[in-house]
Amino acid sequence: MNRVQVAPPRRSGFRPPTLQTLSEAVAANVAEIKARTRSTIMAVVKADGYGHGAVTVAKAAVAAGAGWLGTTSVAEASALRAAGLAVPILTWLHPCGIDAEAAAATRVDVAVGSVDELGVLLAQAASTAASAVRVHLHMDTGMSRGGCPRGQWDELTALARRGQQARRIRVVGVMGHLPLADRADPAANAPAVAGMREAWQAVRAAGLGSPLAHLAATSGTLTDRATHFGMVRVGAGLVGIDPSETVELHGASRLTAPIVHTAAVPAGTPVGYAGAYVTDRATHLSVLPVGYADGIPRECSRQAGVEIRGRRFPVVGRVSMDQIVIDTGAESFPAGTSATVFGPGGGATPTIHDWARWAGTIPHTIVTGLGPRVKRSVA
Ligand SMILES: *Cc1c(COP(=O)(O)O)cnc(C)c1O
Repeated sequence: MNRVQVAPPRRSGFRPPTLQTLSEAVAANVAEIKARTRSTIMAVVKADGYGHGAVTVAKAAVAAGAGWLGTTSVAEASALRAAGLAVPILTWLHPCGIDAEAAAATRVDVAVGSVDELGVLLAQAASTAASAVRVHLHMDTGMSRGGCPRGQWDELTALARRGQQARRIRVVGVMGHLPLADRADPAANAPAVAGMREAWQAVRAAGLGSPLAHLAATSGTLTDRATHFGMVRVGAGLVGIDPSETVELHGASRLTAPIVHTAAVPAGTPVGYAGAYVTDRATHLSVLPVGYADGIPRECSRQAGVEIRGRRFPVVGRVSMDQIVIDTGAESFPAGTSATVFGPGGGATPTIHDWARWAGTIPHTIVTGLGPRVKRSVA
C-alpha cells in the first residue's frame, strides 16, 4: 500500500494574527468616565467585552473602579463569576429565557421587561430557585426594543410586588435605555429622563422600596448628567469608543498580522479576485493572513491601510475570506514582518475609527466582528 509521505510540521516563527487587549487603556477609560459622573459605573461586557475579551475587560474595569458588570445572559455572567468576579452582575435580553435557578445560585441579577416574562420567572423561581431572584424592572423609555410599555407598568409592578411578598424575587433595580446613543443632545434625552423618573415613582408607589435607577449608556454618561441616576451602564466607552465623539478615549486593542508572502510585480499586474485592482507601477505586494472571516470589512474604501515599520501602506484589491494584499511600493518586507491592522492610534497606525470610516460603519462592528481564528492576548 502506498503511503503519502507528509513532511513533519515545520515550527513557524511567525506570530499569528493576534488581538491584544490593552488593560491599561480600559483602566484609563474608566478614569475618564469616573471624572464625569458621581454615579456607580456598570462595565457592560456583552459580545465578549466588545470583542476585547469579557473577563479581561471586566477585570480591568473593576480594578479601576467599576462597581457592577453587565451582560446579556446569565450564562455569560456565570463565566465572569467563574473567573472570580464577585461584584453585582446584571443581565438583560436573555436569548434563551431566564434560568431562575442559575440566576439565584450565581447571585446574578436579571432584568425583566414584560408581564409575561415576569410571570414565567415567578413560576420558575417557585419551583427551582433556592433564594429570591434579584430583579430589575426594565421599563420602555422610548426605545421600543425591549422593556415594558408604559401602558403595562402598573400591571408589571403589581405582579412584582406579589412576587416579592412571596419571596420569589427581590426588586433591586429599575432600568430604561436611551434611544439616542450617538449624539450629545440633552433636549432629545429629556423624554426618556422624564419616563425614567416616572418609572421609578411607579415602582416606589407599588411598595417596592427605592431600587437603584439606571438609564444611561456611554453617550448619555459622557454628554448628559441628567441621565445618570444611580448608575451608568458603559460598554463602548471601556474600549475607547465614544459614540458621541465628545471625549478622546483610549483605544484598547491592537490587531497585528504577519506578512506571509511578498512578491515584486511589474506595472499592470491585477491583484486578487476579479483583478479589481491593477498595479500602476512596478511595486511590491505583501499578503496578510486576515480576511473577512476574521472581521476585516469586505467593503472598504481605497483609503484602507495598515502600518508596517512606522509607515502606512494601502490595502489593494478585494478583501478575501482569509487574506488581504498590501501594496508596499519600493519597500520589500520579508515574510514574518509584523503589520498593525489597527491600534490605539498615533503615527501611521490606523484606529478602529479609521476602519469604521473606511467601511461606512461604526467602530463597534469592527471590534465585535473579529473572528475566532484571531488569537487573543492581554497587555
Ligand atoms: C449595550 C448596552 C449598554 C452599553 O451601551 P454602550 O453605548 O456600548 O455604552 C447599556 N445598556 C444596555 C441596555 C445595553 O444593551
